[in-house]
Amino acid sequence: MTPEMEYTTIKVQEDFYVIAQRGVKCFLFVGTDNALLVDTGFGGDLMAEIRKITDKPIKLVLTHSDGDHVAADSQFSEKYMHPSEFSTYIKKNKRSPGCLPIWEGDIIDLGNFRFEVILIPGHTPGSIALLEREKRFILGGDTMQDNAIYMFGEGRDLAAFRCTMAKLMAMQDDFDIIYPSHGNMTAPKSVLKEHYELAGDILEGIWPEPQPAPAHMPESVKLWQKGEARLYLEK
Ligand SMILES: [Zn+2]
Repeated sequence: MTPEMEYTTIKVQEDFYVIAQRGVKCFLFVGTDNALLVDTGFGGDLMAEIRKITDKPIKLVLTHSDGDHVAADSQFSEKYMHPSEFSTYIKKNKRSPGCLPIWEGDIIDLGNFRFEVILIPGHTPGSIALLEREKRFILGGDTMQDNAIYMFGEGRDLAAFRCTMAKLMAMQDDFDIIYPSHGNMTAPKSVLKEHYELAGDILEGIWPEPQPAPAHMPESVKLWQKGEARLYLEK
């Protein structure tokens, strides 16, 4: 494996691991009878990395269908994704997802961890978060971050993203820690309100000139920022 594709595995707490690769994180929870893997990174032998931690059967849940989250998913036979994501998965990855549906309100019970599926459209139509109510944390995918969020390209919807921020703000007493898929290990809850306000300003056209985006992005993409909230979008 090339050095930039190597995995870095961090034990976050008992039976809870982050497997990071090139700035994207996969999450592994070792349950009583099976393990839950959330996302698969950019590709590589993720299964071998997981087998260093656990031999238990693995359920894979995909937070959404962007390539840096699904690239190694063919290594896992039992996998789940929200059906609103199926067609964008095919367009982006040029293959069939082969996933079973997962729905808002579904519970993934590992015995020692219990996750509730929260539908959070905007970054993609079927993005999900996983809320652990008793342990008071949430996995936010690409949608809950203090890192810049990609809101250009296939399947993005800024108005839906803003509604999702309002939905999450209304739930924010149910969790203390946000684990985002990119950037820092945790993100502050304040980014929800900041992203809600930033999306609103852009939708209402009251925001001043955005900043240029990095050179590797299309020229039409700009960076919009308010506090820690940052969005890349075409406007
Ligand atoms: Zn994404």
